[in-house]
This record gives sequence, C-alpha cells and structure tokens, in this order.
Amino acid sequence: MMATQPTQLVIFDCDGVLVDSEPIALDVLVDALAVKGITMDAEGAAERFLGRSISSLAEVVRQEFQVEIDQAFLTHMREALYARFRSDLKPIAGIKYVVGGLKALGISWCVASSSQRERIELSLAATDLLDHFTPSIFSATMVKNGKPAPDLFLYAAAAMGVEPSACLVVEDSPAGIVAAQAAGMRVCAFTGGSHTGYASYQAALGALHPDARFDAMEELLHFVQGARRPENHSDA
Ligand SMILES: [Mg+2]
Repeated sequence: MMATQPTQLVIFDCDGVLVDSEPIALDVLVDALAVKGITMDAEGAAERFLGRSISSLAEVVRQEFQVEIDQAFLTHMREALYARFRSDLKPIAGIKYVVGGLKALGISWCVASSSQRERIELSLAATDLLDHFTPSIFSATMVKNGKPAPDLFLYAAAAMGVEPSACLVVEDSPAGIVAAQAAGMRVCAFTGGSHTGYASYQAALGALHPDARFDAMEELLHFVQGARRPENHSDA
C-alpha cells in the first residue's frame, strides 16, 4: 500500500523538471572540459554530473582525471551557461498548467535545486516562471550537504511548514531521487526532459524505484489526486 497521507506540498527540482536546461548545461560542460584536455561526450557528462552542483564538478574531475579546476574556470563556465540560458532555455511543457492545477487543489509548491540561487532565478525568469515560484525558492547553498543528501528537501519542507510524509518531490536525476527517499518523501521521476534518453540514465532511474514515473508533466496532477497508482505496486 502506498502512504495514504495526502500531498500538501509539491517540491520541484528545477533543472530538467521546470526548465529543459540539461542539454544546454551538458553541452557547455563538455566544451569547457575539452579546454582542459578532457574528452567526454554528453552521456558521460550526464552520468557524472546530472543533478549535482557546478562546484562538485572540481572534486570529480580531480579524482578521475587528476586535473585541477580553479575558480576562474568555474566562473567562466557559469557565464557561458547563463548566456546560453538567456537565449535558448525553454520551460518544460505543461508546467504552468500544473502549477495552476495545484493552486486549484489547495496544494502548495516550491522549488529546491542544487544550483545557486542566481542560476535558479535566471532560469525561471528566462522561461517566464519566476512569478509562479517567488518567494518559495530553495538552493543547495542554504544547507550543508547537497543532493543526494536529504538536507535541502528537509529544509524546504520545514520552511514551508509541511511534514516530510506529506511532501511529494518531482525529480529527474538519480541523485535527486535518492535525496527525496532519504528525506522520507514520495518522489515522482520526471523523464520528459531532452536529456533522459541515455540507457545508463534509464537504468539508474529504474533501479531506484520512484513512486511514479512519467514524461508528461500533466500526469503529476493525476498522481497527487490518487488517480494513478505507483508503478511498483499491483492493483491486486
Ligand atoms: Mg534536475
């Protein structure tokens, strides 16, 4: 049986859930690493860095490639990314409709992202979503440990005044799904972003057994109303 406590708060991840940012981010990352002499395709970058912060990049690159990433490199990469976001970033289809639906149902919502607040706000502004989420914006910079640790989701729930068991997280990344489960929250895997076709990504997602999985954002409204059963439970 699934938990019967109704959802009072939906916590959205940002990248790959509200905005279709991951193809752009992976593209910028692959280009930046090439400058450092590291050859990696988008799938390799997705496996290593999806759902994690830019600052965690340095650690991974140091360990695996013995290459030092300094602050100037990260700043340059961030600027390249922001420029691409301003020109190319698109919202995830259906997200405004879903937020309107949550409002009609009396369910609260917020965003909790591994990105810096500046990047979250830029992403939401570039896609005309900022008004729908201000002031309920939570960045991993507000907590000690980022995803896959549960800290950010627990912080967001506490700030919104909702128990973890009444929260539903919408995530696209394995790191984010692990974080939600560690926080004792239900989690829907959203696979409608442009970056979700990789076999390694699909395998990682399936192994985590999210409570539901969908690639059309509108299905979230069915899930919160209980019209849709979790994929890992039978109807029998
Ligand atoms: Mg994400």
